[in-house]
Amino acid sequence: TFVIVSVLVAYLAMQWAAPRFDPESLKGARVLVTGASTGIGEQIAYHYARFGAQIIITARREKVLQQVAEKCLSLGAQKAFYIAADMASESDPDKVVDFALEKLGGLDYLVLNHIGPTPFGVWEGDVEHTRWLMKVNFFSYTQMAWRALPSLEQSKGSLVVVSSLLAKMTSPFTLPYTSTKFALNGFFGSLNHELAMKKSNVSISICTLGLIDTESAMEKVRFVKYIQAASTAQGQKRFYTHECIWMTIMPFNFKNMSIPGISFRNTAPKRLKMQ
Ligand code: NDP
Repeated sequence: TFVIVSVLVAYLAMQWAAPRFDPESLKGARVLVTGASTGIGEQIAYHYARFGAQIIITARREKVLQQVAEKCLSLGAQKAFYIAADMASESDPDKVVDFALEKLGGLDYLVLNHIGPTPFGVWEGDVEHTRWLMKVNFFSYTQMAWRALPSLEQSKGSLVVVSSLLAKMTSPFTLPYTSTKFALNGFFGSLNHELAMKKSNVSISICTLGLIDTESAMEKVRFVKYIQAASTAQGQKRFYTHECIWMTIMPFNFKNMSIPGISFRNTAPKRLKMQ
């Protein structure tokens, strides 16, 4: 009985001491979300909008961004601006941060979320694509973070990096993507240490997501059966949960393209050379 009561008391004490989310803290918060024209980034923007934040969104497609910004306003955002940018460019990452600082007078949250499109299939030596993807998915993140850090420092702000289970474990078919996510976790995990050493005001969150049913992700895994994805609709409540079955089913057998428990539909892209 003593042990049970002690555990219960410890649990209640932890619950009491745990930081609580205060919705008011997001009212008027100055937020920049990248990759916000679609998918998870779009939903993140709407999420902040519902709490009355001031939002800047970016991606490449201007027309789509305009629609997302309008929806942000209709959901309750105090302000919503958009800027089209290509994160493969040397200058656009800085340009976007400067735009946000100019429009909002500073930043409280920088949410780095964008990814460039990449094929799902066996790697056939496309080094150029890997280099390009590194620029989009990794180097632009470091560039934007560096540009925004002074403002985040001032506002005791947060840097949010949207990463993946594939930053934690290797896997077939997504070599360039997996590499960029490993790089992100290595970089921002290490930066987190350095900020702590400097007693910085800025906090870093690295989000580890499993499969979420965005259009682009589902398109990639459409030929894999028995795969379960969390929904972006659930995302409002369960953003950090993941239900990614096939990641846990290893080892992968390259030779005959089978993962125990998973079979492939006949619609597999030719590049995969299915048997
Ligand atoms: P999407 O492919 O749906 O969205 C990608 C976004 O990035 C779009 O807004 C796209 O807009 C933008 N983008 C693409 N290329 C560029 C570029 N060169 N420059 C600037 N913006 C670009 O991705 P998801 O929503 O599925 O994923 C979002 C994040 O979540 C990513 O970091 C991903 O790694 C992570 N994640 C997703 C999982 C999933 O299952 N969905 C699982 C694990 C992690 P546009 O085309 O207009 O430029």
